[in-house]
Amino acid sequence: GADRAQTVSDPAARAAALRREIEHHSYQYYALDAPTISDAAFDSLMGELREIEAAHPELVTPASPTQRVGGYVGEQFAPVVHERRMYSLDNAMDLGELDAWLGRVEEACGGVLPPLCCELKIDGSSIALTYEDGVLVRAATRGDGTTGEDVTVNMRTVRDVPLRLREGALVAIAPGTDALELRGEVYMPKRSFEVLNAAAVTEGRPPFANPRNAAAGSLRQKDARVTQGRDLSTFMYAIADEGALDIAGQWELLQWLREAGFHVNPDVKLCETAEEVRGFCRTAIERRDALPYEIDGVVVKVNSFARQAAMGFTARAPRWAIAFKFPPEEKTTLLRDITVQV
Ligand code: NAD
Repeated sequence: GADRAQTVSDPAARAAALRREIEHHSYQYYALDAPTISDAAFDSLMGELREIEAAHPELVTPASPTQRVGGYVGEQFAPVVHERRMYSLDNAMDLGELDAWLGRVEEACGGVLPPLCCELKIDGSSIALTYEDGVLVRAATRGDGTTGEDVTVNMRTVRDVPLRLREGALVAIAPGTDALELRGEVYMPKRSFEVLNAAAVTEGRPPFANPRNAAAGSLRQKDARVTQGRDLSTFMYAIADEGALDIAGQWELLQWLREAGFHVNPDVKLCETAEEVRGFCRTAIERRDALPYEIDGVVVKVNSFARQAAMGFTARAPRWAIAFKFPPEEKTTLLRDITVQV
């Protein structure tokens, strides 16, 4: 914990070494879709850097991986500047950290816990879909949050993405709105991932590390026919500009997305109490293996858009949401020493 950070003899050198290591692995993961260490090992490097920065705030820089969205923008696709930034999520690594976050939300809301929308955390790749006059005109990856990659041609091949929004849903669009940007996750079902990797092995290609990297890699193909041959699906859950729709919160947004023709995950719950939120998390852990797609946690969101706006964002994540991360399924060989003189 923080004690370890206090006892590092040269924290500046250790922080610099950790940043180099983290940047290397972020590149492998986000740019090449080919991580060489496990997520748990990566998270432990990030955790150590966070501890050092907490103990030595003077070492925090805006470019530190703890302060920004960890993605990458390749040259293979045209860049798309996000009119509204795409954020990552802060993590709660256990129920204790979840409780601490719930406490902060309660405090920010005048001592009363507001309704919270609980969703599964789909382990895929972030996607933003823009519709003009109800027609899909652009798809972009998250990239570094500010700039993403234009993957429109590839996303058009994903069969559950509506090319046109359903008529009945258009009435909720606020007057004067010329484009709607909806956001969600593109993922590859577990079974399709196994089939794809089995074929890769037979054909002598390197397999993907996990379904998330397979989804991101399949989406970011130069030849859209390759993407078309991969089994990708989406779950949509967000809108870039809440003001563009005549709705008040996350729960209604999910209903609207469904009406508009999107694929929306059915496992959602609007919770009124902390105990209900914890219950949703426990159930999700139990059901995890039975689901046909990978999840790596639960996302808890303050339901009301007005309250969300009041709470705002840090440099990399909303304050009004948290990702409760599941304990890693196997933890052997995960913690890896990085050799550096400190
Ligand atoms: P993240 O993927 O853990 O969380 C943020 C993302 O969750 C959002 O951008 C969104 O796309 C997604 N999400 C899924 N379901 C959602 C829902 N219902 N509502 C809202 N958002 C939802 O964050 P990240 O910063 O993209 O990546 C960090 C993860 O990547 C960590 O798990 C880390 O271990 C892993 N990683 C691993 C390596 C490695 O080398 N193994 C390197 C870099 C990152």
